[in-house]
Amino acid sequence: MTDTTVTNWAGNITYTAKELHRPHTRAALRALVADSARVRVLGSGHSFNAIAEPGADGVLLSLAELPPEIDVDTAARTVRVGGGVRYAELARVVDAHGLALPNMASLPHISVAGSVATGTHGSGVTNGSLASVVREVELITADGTTVTIARGDERFGGAVTSLGALGVVASLTLELEPAYEVEQHVFGELPLTAPLDEALAAAYSVSLFTDWRAPGFRQVWLKRRVDGPPVRFPWAAPATEKQHPVPGMPAENCTEQFGVPGPWHERLPHFRAEFTPSSGAELQSEYLLPREHAADALRALDAVREVMAPVTQTCEWRTVAADAQWLSPSYGRDTVAVHFTWVEDTAAVLPVVRRVEEALDGLAARPHWGKVFTTAPARLRELYPRLDDFARLVAEVDPAGTFTNAFVRDVLAG
Ligand SMILES: Cc1cc2nc3c(=O)[nH]c(=O)nc-3n(C[C@H](O)[C@H](O)[C@H](O)COP(=O)(O)OP(=O)(O)OC[C@H]3O[C@@H](n4cnc5c(N)ncnc54)[C@H](O)[C@@H]3O)c2cc1C
Repeated sequence: MTDTTVTNWAGNITYTAKELHRPHTRAALRALVADSARVRVLGSGHSFNAIAEPGADGVLLSLAELPPEIDVDTAARTVRVGGGVRYAELARVVDAHGLALPNMASLPHISVAGSVATGTHGSGVTNGSLASVVREVELITADGTTVTIARGDERFGGAVTSLGALGVVASLTLELEPAYEVEQHVFGELPLTAPLDEALAAAYSVSLFTDWRAPGFRQVWLKRRVDGPPVRFPWAAPATEKQHPVPGMPAENCTEQFGVPGPWHERLPHFRAEFTPSSGAELQSEYLLPREHAADALRALDAVREVMAPVTQTCEWRTVAADAQWLSPSYGRDTVAVHFTWVEDTAAVLPVVRRVEEALDGLAARPHWGKVFTTAPARLRELYPRLDDFARLVAEVDPAGTFTNAFVRDVLAG
């Protein structure tokens, strides 16, 4: 099947690829890859930049029509998941086997392979990015053959958060743990005087939201594992109505609140699988900094609050534990992640993105690979100490550059 006009979820990127193919079998997928000089895979299209764009002479491949492989090994506590599967489908199957993932992003609508390729994360001071549970990656490389890279292989550090530059991720093997329940507790206003570090560590997963229209945070979301310590949050009052992180959006789109316990996959994401996540009409940016810079980052951003407020729908603060993927924005350092849901007006948002980057300059802020940023390639090189190792891995696994697009070239150019 061939389509011509395809956009990302947000609609701000129209892919210029000469063809879009949705193969129905692995054999067809291999043949398409082997016959194409330029290839990129489109996951669920939830990135806000041209990371998936193969270029006008390239081929975009969607794996959404492949049979959805989800093979749970209950004895080993692992799951092998196909390259087109989304977290919502995966979580239901894993939970039915009495098993769980340690964490999820704010929405279950995104594909697993696309998420770990960009360093996607949830929250929690002890929770690594979603890539940190990957044990093995199965890649289809440019000639259609398969390469498997597993933990322990010296190439593994570049193989998971790989920006789609190594080949088609045909499957990933993820580590699981026994299923658990989570309660979600939402609180109101958190003043700037509250201890930020303690607030961010107050539960298994914590999100603080502000719209920058006033100092401090408007909402606090705590996700507590029922097998963990009780909730203690003395700095804000419990919300009396169900909340949505974007003011004015329907709270019914969000997962259960008010401390009602429920399965991990129905509480860890903010948004329910069967509803539109977030606001739907938006752009996003995110910067990930060493956690010890959290208070400095808050001061620096509060100083440009009035610049951000007119284009902000919501801004979310989360934490991510250090991981070992060379290109992960939380590589090698415990992290505070500052996310922005902007209005959907690129011309109005871009100058503000630059102001945010200026404000965070000096705080080692790494941009999220799947969102809008203007960080120069030379700066990316300073921020990612293993970029040369990644470039060598790309040259080894994909010597003809079949999977390298303009976005990846920019990253490697630094
Ligand atoms: C409403 C919303 C909420 C979000 N919330 C969060 C959040 O909580 N935390 C967070 O960190 N991010 C969040 N994001 C960002 C999102 O997680 C990332 O953009 C992620 O990459 C989306 O996955 P995708 O499959 O849609 O990726 P796509 O945009 O489709 O692709 C991303 C990259 O992965 C590659 N790729 C995808 N599948 C394959 C494959 N099988 N083989 C090889 N390469 C592949 C693509 O080529 C591309 O380079 C959010 C985005 C939206 C729209």
